[in-house]
Amino acid sequence: MSLDGLSRGTLRHFKNLVVASLLLLTSATAQNATADRALLSTLNARASRFASDVRAQGINIPLPVPAIRIDQDAQVARYDNEKNVVHMLRWDTASMRARATFNLMAIYCKDGTTGKSLFSESYDRLFFTHELAHWLQLQFRNQSADHYALELEANRMAVAYWSQRPNDRIWLGRLVERYRKILTQLPSPVPNGQRPSDYFNKNYAAWVDNGKLEYGTSQLTMVVQAWDDRDRPTFAEMIHSLAKPSGTSR
Ligand SMILES: [Zn+2]
Repeated sequence: MSLDGLSRGTLRHFKNLVVASLLLLTSATAQNATADRALLSTLNARASRFASDVRAQGINIPLPVPAIRIDQDAQVARYDNEKNVVHMLRWDTASMRARATFNLMAIYCKDGTTGKSLFSESYDRLFFTHELAHWLQLQFRNQSADHYALELEANRMAVAYWSQRPNDRIWLGRLVERYRKILTQLPSPVPNGQRPSDYFNKNYAAWVDNGKLEYGTSQLTMVVQAWDDRDRPTFAEMIHSLAKPSGTSR
């Protein structure tokens, strides 16, 4: 229909609609900016506390604390070691697929938790620290390691970090029990007869590039195993072991 065919009244109505939509869009953008700032301030405080816990062990950290970027659409949490940036997502701007997965996983928890809550507890706390562990690996790891070994170490370090303080340990224990329930409902990421490390390394790139569930379930499995490991070193022990000068045994 051409504009000529519209009555004055219809035109006025159309203009009002456009103005209303623009206002809605502006307020959504403003809300997103406010939510981004709130998350950034939480994450910056967590990164500073993480760095000061490492320094409290008498360890000098050469690189500055990573910058944090809240992305609109990307992988949920990622450390860019070339730019020293941790990339994060917020629930509201995460992909529909990511949100659907977390909503389903929340149902598996059967304790009233929501996908949004599970998402932010996982990414903003546990896996954010996992990304900070990659930041430490970049600076201190003097032996080459495959993807599996790096991910395993980052998860063990994140678990050790959140096990240091009693309240954090209670929180992490609850999260791990949720992961345990979730994992009973999802297929194992590793086919029978395959070694988890070999299978993970073989599929790592494709899993990450395609946002495959297997990557997530592998990470959750590592977290549960780290929590269950009675001989797991403390955060302080892990940091000292990682930061040992090259040539000394680990
Ligand atoms: Zn990682």
